[in-house]
Parts: sequence; C-alpha cells; structure tokens
Amino acid sequence: MNIHEYQAKEIFRDAGIPIPPGEIAATPEEAERIARKLGGTVVVKAQVHAGGRGKAGGVKLASSPEEARDVAAKILALTIKDLPVEKVLVTPAAEIATEAYAGIIVDRSSKRAVFMVSPAGGIDIEEVAEKTPEKIMRRPVDPRYGLRTYEAMEMGFFLYDDVKQARAAAKIMQQLYTAFAASGASLAEINPLVTTPDGEVLALDAKMVIDDNELDRLPAIAALRDESSEAASEVDARNASLTFIKLEGNVGCVVNGAGLAMATMDLVKYYGGEPANFLDIGGSSNPEKVVNALRIITSDPSVKAILFNIFGGITRTDDVANGIVTATKQNPLKVPIVIRLTGTNEEIALKILQENGFSAMTDMDEAVKKAVALATGKAA
Ligand code: GDP
Ligand code: MN
Repeated sequence: MNIHEYQAKEIFRDAGIPIPPGEIAATPEEAERIARKLGGTVVVKAQVHAGGRGKAGGVKLASSPEEARDVAAKILALTIKDLPVEKVLVTPAAEIATEAYAGIIVDRSSKRAVFMVSPAGGIDIEEVAEKTPEKIMRRPVDPRYGLRTYEAMEMGFFLYDDVKQARAAAKIMQQLYTAFAASGASLAEINPLVTTPDGEVLALDAKMVIDDNELDRLPAIAALRDESSEAASEVDARNASLTFIKLEGNVGCVVNGAGLAMATMDLVKYYGGEPANFLDIGGSSNPEKVVNALRIITSDPSVKAILFNIFGGITRTDDVANGIVTATKQNPLKVPIVIRLTGTNEEIALKILQENGFSAMTDMDEAVKKAVALATGKAA
C-alpha cells in the first residue's frame, strides 16, 4: 500500500525526525490560507502516489499567499503518471545547502531491511546506482538489534564531514528505522535529506510503502489508505480478493497462483508480447473470482487479447470454465480469448467450454504464443 508524503511525514515526525510543518489543501483558496498562516516562502507539493513529482511540475515554490493560490491551482489541475492531483501539501520552504538520500528497503537476497544512503540526493537513486554506484553505501540491519549507533554513525559520516551533521544524520537514520519497522513498511525513504546554510539537517520529502500483509495487525496504518488515489482497477481487484497489478502491455492474463502468474508473464515476454497485468485468482475454487477477474481485465482498453492459464489442483478447472461462461454471458468479449487449462476436472471443463463455443488448449507454450500473436495482430 502506498501512502502520501504528508502521511509519511506524520509518521516520521512522530519518530522524532526533523521535518518542517505543513498542512493539506484541496483547493487553491485553502492553499492560500495555509501559506498566509505559515508566512514567508512556501513549497506547494502534489500529493500523489508517484515519484518524480518535481520533474512533472508537481513541486513549486511560492513567495506570497497569492502566488501559493495560483501555483496550487496549477498543480491541482495536473495528472502525474495517470494519477489526478486531488490534494497539495503546503509547507515552509527550507533553504537548501546540500541534498542527500536516505532510504530503507526490504532486500530479498540478504533477507534483511537494507539501508541505502548517498550524498548525491534530490535525484533518482536509480540513476545514482547506475552512473556512480560508489556514491551509495548499503548496510543491512539485523532485526534483533535494530540500527546500532556505530552503524548509524558510519552512514552519517558517509554523508557529512561535519561531526554535528553526521551525528544529526545518524540519529535520523535510527528514527527512520524505528518508523519503518513499526509501520510494517517495505520501503521508507527521505529524498532529499538536506542541510541548510546554518547547518541543520532536515527531511524535506518522505515516502513510505506499506507491506499489505501487515495491514491486518496495524489498523491505524491501514486507515491511511486513500482509495481515490489508487488505480480504479487495483481497488476493484482488492475488493474482489484478487491479487492484481496493472502493467503496461496488452495481453490480459488470468492465472492461478503467483508462481504460475510469474512464469506466464515471462513466457509472454519470451514470445515477444507484453503482459497487461499480473493477476492471481488464487487457489480457491470460485467462479465468482473468474467473473470479477474478467470484468477488471476487460475494462482496460489496452488489453487486446486475454490469456487464461489455469493449472487445476485445489482450483477446479470446471469452476473456472463456469466462471468464463457466466462472465462472457454478462459481458460479451470484445477481444479474443485463449484458454489453457489442465488438471483437476479437466474433461468436464473442456466439455463446458465446448458447449458454449469456446476452445481450450492444454499446452502452455502454444497458448501463450497464440495469445501474443492475437494481441500483436500477427496471425498465430
Ligand atoms: P519528488 O520530485 O516527488 O521526489 O519531490 P521532492 O519533495 O523530493 O521535491 C523535489 C525537489 O524540490 C527537491 O529535490 C528540492 O530540490 C525541491 N524542494 C522541495 N522542498 C523544498 C524546499 O523546502 N525548499 C527548496 N528550496 N526546494 C525544495
Ligand atoms: Mn523526493
């Protein structure tokens, strides 16, 4: 789950990280009022679940309340990476001497939360990693002890020569780790972590991604979800208990099991196609899930062909077949469909599909090849 900058900042502030105050506005007039209250130059920042807002025109300085109103009007009219801006954060502008990066991610290979810090902040950390990897320090954290002071100091000195600033940064790292661990986060990031001309160390941006599996035990964090800021298809899928991630391609995939879904996407790419989504209908046997899956996939206009890849174990393939028949009766398909199913109740499933005018395959390679050909308009 993504949360907004202003929400992540509240969590970081509670952990003790120094962050300038700020308030949220949904209209230009509110932004003006907040700017007047704060006084001086302010920054108006789009609150959307996307990075690179600065480059997209979503972060702007305003030197008067009137300018804050005008700037907010412009930002509230923006759509950044397909996400409409509905709220802005208005915060006092800090004077910046240097910009650094500090972030924590869950690293699967070390099975740890890993700190990444870099004195080259403000820009994409991916770009730093690619062009100047020596400017990034990585440190895994032992979950039994948390981030120990000497580890934090080592990172502090990687960022700053000045002892006071290194100490301030080290303290921020420990606070960041506390916030990360307590919130069930899979990512927590400060970019930029700045120094001001008078030597203060401040966090000017905050990003946090919460592991969905943590939400049940952390209701206060779960309550931060802002559905109006999420892709409609992802909200729909979550409410239907489907694991769904929208992607850029045009082959709509309906698969049971995360491993098979990954393998299917790999094969789609192997045969020159691009998956439109990751979708796992799960292991249960429920035609309703198939109906929901088809509704979500067919509502995406970029989908040019649909691929079902079902391996029947606990999932009964006749249930899936019934789901396909029900769904397509409710909403006749406008794009071709390729169905591959094998396993539990396969003969019954094939019969149901044939009786309703569908053909099905049992070979995964053939099915994927055909779906890619149909989606790209090249005959199979
Ligand atoms: P992002 O582009 O979505 O990561 O948004 P950020 O919050 O990181 O803002 C982008 C850039 O705007 C920062 O790297 C800063 O250079 C600048 N910026 C953000 N807040 C301030 C501020 O308070 N004062 C000044 N002078 N610049 C700021
Ligand atoms: Mn940033």
